[in-house]
Amino acid sequence: MSETKVIDGKKFASALSAKIKSETRKLYNKHKIVPGLAVVLVGEDPASQVYVRRKGEQTKELGMQSFEHKLSKSVKETELLKLVRQLNEDHSVNGILVQLPLPKHIDEKEVLKAISPEKDVDGFHTTNVGRLWTGSESLTPCTPFGCLLLLKGCLGSLVGLNATIIGRSNIVGKPIAALLLAENCTVTIAHSKTENLEQKCKNADILIAAVGRPNMVKSSWVKKGATVIDVGINRIAAPERGKGKTKIVGDVDFNDCYPIAGQITPVPGGVGPMTIACLLRNTLVATYRQANLAPPAI
Ligand code: NAD
Repeated sequence: MSETKVIDGKKFASALSAKIKSETRKLYNKHKIVPGLAVVLVGEDPASQVYVRRKGEQTKELGMQSFEHKLSKSVKETELLKLVRQLNEDHSVNGILVQLPLPKHIDEKEVLKAISPEKDVDGFHTTNVGRLWTGSESLTPCTPFGCLLLLKGCLGSLVGLNATIIGRSNIVGKPIAALLLAENCTVTIAHSKTENLEQKCKNADILIAAVGRPNMVKSSWVKKGATVIDVGINRIAAPERGKGKTKIVGDVDFNDCYPIAGQITPVPGGVGPMTIACLLRNTLVATYRQANLAPPAI
């Protein structure tokens, strides 16, 4: 397997993290400011606990302050909103992330709306969504921004390329579309009601799968030499590893598509590692802006 063909997300993420660490140090040396990221976790979902722990560890590794707020799964929405407002007012906190999903009795939209757009490092607040689509200065959702960095790192200019994105969620598919449009790609957004999906994918120089269906994209969907970005994370049974064992696969059938694609991300090890690095990049950018300083170009 050629190494250049498989896009190494870990390598890209560690290069980005090194830049963030160095810029964080410079910010402290020049202005005595330490970026702070507050992560709010409601309940005890095991996957969310792992994500939150990893975010906290990486935040500290890059020289930032990490604030973790763990609330019981029965917490009232008003209590959560009160905490978000406190964090909005707290000058040591530059970025706020409320780990999703939230328990059913809490209205996710209300909580996301309560986060100050200037501290919304997930980029989910409608103000940031509007800024992104209108080409204004925004905080950009982390996984989509990670995809963009991988694409630019692999292809350089994206101008004029045909990009098909499978998936139209607010947190992945739509923001990726906005970012690629801003790079002057010709963008097709496909979804569960799209007709002739295979053909729409086959036209794409850049094919992005963000669906949540294991191994859905086959080689017959991929244009020869296309760049394939697999955002999907699916846990499936892996009897070959032993009884009851599971493994993580993407939305793209990697082994089938590998010979046709020009470049392709693996799962795990492709898009995934970029997400936390982009979160910390957003935290750094938000900190600079809150101090009325121009953020570094990273
Ligand atoms: P979602 O369920 O909100 O959206 C899925 C999208 O896929 C929808 O827009 C739907 O229209 C489309 N879809 C469903 N079935 C389809 C079909 N048969 N044909 C075409 N389109 C179809 O999911 P999401 O939050 O956007 O996440 C998508 C995937 O990305 C999931 O596997 C998720 O775990 C993964 N994800 C990964 C990261 C990361 O860091 N790598 C971050 C976020 C999400």
